[in-house]
Amino acid sequence: MEISDIAVIGAGISGLSIAHCLKEHAQVKVFEADVQPGGLIKCDNVNGYLYHKVGGHVFNSKRQDVLDWFWSFFDKQNEFVQASRNAVISMPGQQLVGYPIENHIYTLETSLMKKIIGDLLYITKQGYTPAINFEEFLKIHFGNTLFDIYFQPYNKKIWKTNLTEIPLSWLEGKLPMPTIEDILYNNFNREKDHNMVHSSFYYAKNNGSQFLANRLAEGLDISFNSIVNAIKRVGKFWEINGEQFDKIIFCGNIKDLSKIIRGFYVNTYKCFIDNLAYHGTTTVLCEIEQNPYSWIYLPDKAYSAHRIICTGNFSPFNNCNDKMTATIEFTDELPKRDIDLQLNKMPFSPKYLTHHYTPYTYPIQNANTRKTIGVLKSELEKENFYLLGRFAEWEYYNMDAAIVAAIDLSKQIKQIIK
Ligand SMILES: Cc1cc2nc3c(=O)[nH]c(=O)nc-3n(C[C@H](O)[C@H](O)[C@H](O)COP(=O)(O)OP(=O)(O)OC[C@H]3O[C@@H](n4cnc5c(N)ncnc54)[C@H](O)[C@@H]3O)c2cc1C
Repeated sequence: MEISDIAVIGAGISGLSIAHCLKEHAQVKVFEADVQPGGLIKCDNVNGYLYHKVGGHVFNSKRQDVLDWFWSFFDKQNEFVQASRNAVISMPGQQLVGYPIENHIYTLETSLMKKIIGDLLYITKQGYTPAINFEEFLKIHFGNTLFDIYFQPYNKKIWKTNLTEIPLSWLEGKLPMPTIEDILYNNFNREKDHNMVHSSFYYAKNNGSQFLANRLAEGLDISFNSIVNAIKRVGKFWEINGEQFDKIIFCGNIKDLSKIIRGFYVNTYKCFIDNLAYHGTTTVLCEIEQNPYSWIYLPDKAYSAHRIICTGNFSPFNNCNDKMTATIEFTDELPKRDIDLQLNKMPFSPKYLTHHYTPYTYPIQNANTRKTIGVLKSELEKENFYLLGRFAEWEYYNMDAAIVAAIDLSKQIKQIIK
């Protein structure tokens, strides 16, 4: 029987990344359930329009090693466009307000502005007290008024969960961390943005994030249309469909683990894993009125969508027939008739083209999630079985964070196999 070294399960960004990191050091075979690579970053073509089936993926990273790694696969100048975020928030009863809202307090209606100034003065007097959950963090850093008019309604739509139950650790690196001084400075100077990861971003000229997945799939041994639904321990090897591997890197969904490696290691964690919370996303492709924005955030309770992603502005090749396109995100599944009702009242008159529901898009952690998954990971690692990726680790990873996790895990594995 042929012995390959490492099986990677899943050709999303995590699986593709680690397969590249390890392919010079081991024989790596990737199994992908779908007929194409990409996982959450997959795109389709609908009537000549590019359709991100989930969101509207853009790329950037604050880490130089990730950027260096990423650009070793692509021609930044010729294959990508670079853009600055031009996002707005559609507030109830207000004009569109610039994003992030804390830098655009000066554009709000006078009574709101005064309340927010009062909040900021209060925070300055009190100092920052340590926050233990997401809601506390937002109130302590931005004050109650910004929390009530924007942060609470917007985040409630995405997470559909009590924000006091979201631990801060979960959102590390994703949260804006401006001080009161930053907020004042940015308002006085009309500075639009913070230096956050997607304040400026790269986007493939053609084929959106599918271009990334297709390129990263090149040069790898990938078996498509190969759902792995049983992994057996045979002596010191792991066996998939009669093929033996020294190591498994699982980049699928941790909720499938107990079915795949039955009885083994995972049983004690089954109840914990079954209870892991998450949301799905309905992503609607629309034609939309021309506008200059990249993202339009919708905290307004009148809409059940939380944001419009103007993918037509990311690359002109995403559009056709001079019509601009966007994807609109709704948390969880929405029937077509509700989508139509919602689109009718939204800004920029979106016209429905198609929609798609993805059941696993947002993993939700509680205070125990990371710790318990950490213990399970270290038990599995002793058996040469590794968890990597958004739903394998139940982490709120962006693509760049998934690449970081892949680079870090590959270093750990290279130490063992060298
Ligand atoms: C709405 C939304 C918008 C986002 N926007 C951005 C953005 O703009 N920029 C950004 O950087 N990040 C963004 N992200 C995050 C990004 O999508 C993820 O970080 C990334 O795609 C996760 O990749 P992954 O490989 O870990 O998981 P996945 O993409 O879920 O890949 C898992 C793969 O494993 C395969 N698989 C699963 N089980 C099996 C099995 N048993 N056998 C074989 N194959 C299997 C699946 O088919 C899939 O291809 C966004 C996420 C969402 C939900």
